[in-house]
Amino acid sequence: MSDVIKLLPDAVANQIAAGEVIQRPASVVKELLENAIDAGSSEIRVVIKDAGKTLIQVIDNGVGISHTDAQLAFERHATSKISEAKELFSITTKGFRGEALASIAAIAHVELKTKRDQDDLGTHVMIEGSEIKNLDYCSCNNGSTFSVKNLFFNVPARRNFLKSDAVEYKHIVEEIHRVALAHPEIAIKFTNNGEDVHQLDICNFRQRVVQLFGKKYNDKLVPIEEETDIVKITGFIGKPEAARKSRGEQYLFVNHRFFKSPYFHHAISNAFEELIPDGHYPSYFINLDVDTSKIDVNIHPTKTEIKFEDERPIYQILRTSTRQAIGKHNIAPTLDFEQETGFETLGKPTKIITEPQIKVNPDYNPFNTGSGGSSRPKSNEPALKDFAPSVEFEKVRENEEQLEMEVETESPGSFDVLAIAQIDRNYILAKVNDQVIIVDQSRAHQLVIFNRLKDNQSNNEASQQLAFPETIKITAGDFEVAQEMIPLMQEVGLDVHEFGKNTLVVNGIPSGLEGINAAELIEEFIEQGKSGTEGNDIKELDKAFQWIARTSSIHHGQSLTLPEMNNLLSDLFQCETPQVLPNRKHTFVVLNAEHVDQLFSA
Ligand code: ADP
Ligand code: MG
Repeated sequence: MSDVIKLLPDAVANQIAAGEVIQRPASVVKELLENAIDAGSSEIRVVIKDAGKTLIQVIDNGVGISHTDAQLAFERHATSKISEAKELFSITTKGFRGEALASIAAIAHVELKTKRDQDDLGTHVMIEGSEIKNLDYCSCNNGSTFSVKNLFFNVPARRNFLKSDAVEYKHIVEEIHRVALAHPEIAIKFTNNGEDVHQLDICNFRQRVVQLFGKKYNDKLVPIEEETDIVKITGFIGKPEAARKSRGEQYLFVNHRFFKSPYFHHAISNAFEELIPDGHYPSYFINLDVDTSKIDVNIHPTKTEIKFEDERPIYQILRTSTRQAIGKHNIAPTLDFEQETGFETLGKPTKIITEPQIKVNPDYNPFNTGSGGSSRPKSNEPALKDFAPSVEFEKVRENEEQLEMEVETESPGSFDVLAIAQIDRNYILAKVNDQVIIVDQSRAHQLVIFNRLKDNQSNNEASQQLAFPETIKITAGDFEVAQEMIPLMQEVGLDVHEFGKNTLVVNGIPSGLEGINAAELIEEFIEQGKSGTEGNDIKELDKAFQWIARTSSIHHGQSLTLPEMNNLLSDLFQCETPQVLPNRKHTFVVLNAEHVDQLFSA
């Protein structure tokens, strides 16, 4: 058999490389931005159209490229940044693989205008699918302008694989955030479809965070600082009470390069443990400075994964300094750094997060049916169901269908419910008639909220107006998603509208959810929408109701007073099926003699 191995033509090899480096428009933005930074720019402009699908333009005032180099730059493995393998271990530039421009040129129409300060004339290059179409002198400003059009024009599979404009745009914004945070010493202007999204002046790190994520961050940030032989840590962590149920802003940089590390992320989140409720995430913006010889940035084509030689000690240092930062700023009372104690022993407990409160009406008597509280008697008939003594946990689990039937057919009658105690800030021990039940506080509240939202909808009373409308400033990426979510938010009773650039105004909240943090709910809606665009998560109204109920319910770990517990129980037992959530999870169990016997059987 004759020899079969051939060397691939450059254009094909470049297209293959592009598959790794350029996954979506945001990858182009990243690579061009990094090149502009490596070129020593102090000012960079990014212009995009149609989420980068039509145009991505990056304009810099860096050193520019000579006429000869301007063609070479698009060759694979063409780089001015390293020339020997050993330099791989002292990388101070963003790029070094010489792949990006070759990859981009293989799968798009690229135009470059560039001029160095020492040259009189600049260079104009046009290249399509790795083929140079034009090479000329031209007059232009110092620096470089790269314009990338018709991305993936010759790779239909990639083009068709792109997500909606909103999603692709979100990825671009995220890349810009990463670069902007890593380089506050560079002014960055970002224009989308002709509209200015960001105009970031040269500033310090803290100011950059605020420029990007809004003024609300100003008093949420706590500095973190540590310097040891192996790592220098600087930056900010978000105060625990600012933690959100959405992942929020979590940024790690090493030597001014954004990177992802589940390991270091764990070090930071672990330091927050017990200071923020389950399912909440802290924000952080942390820079690590490490000797370039102690990291390897060349383990992944997009260089967002980095290998650290001193991974373990850095984990420890990161964790301790996060904890110290929290402690130093008196967010947590008298934190003892040496002791791995629980929250309980840390002295005076602080209120760590504002959650929607259960309304407490001190005059409310839960035993008087149909009066006061946050109840919602539908008719003159007492809405309270007779509590069925036969309801048992096992039965609920095993035969919910039948159980619902049973409960529904029961005739309304009087019943007494009384909270006795809270167990572990998770459960409510209560007496109902002559039975003892254990209620899951979070699930119970979810059911109450869910029913209220459903009722609002059927009574056309979805929204109640706020006395003071609230404006919410969000990031450009979030704004795009928010626009898609507004109809659904309105349908569930959030009276929210666009209010100028990257701003929403909320005039009303869902009825029956007074005290709720509207801004937080909306932000979480957007967060959900982001994943929702891909997974179609909360598009159905009922799902949205369930999700809001989950989001705004009291959570596990929240301590409740007896009146609050009684109020919750009374609301719960006015629901049509107080024992199960729409997702079939039960809200309470009956503690019967059998269960208690079991506890003592050992
Ligand atoms: P790398 O960044 O890994 O070197 P690229 O393909 O991204 O590879 O770029 C190739 C070369 O083109 C760079 O090494 C640099 O010399 C030059 N170059 C690219 N973009 C710019 C720019 N904006 N300003 C000046 N030179 C640039
Ligand atoms: Mg590069």
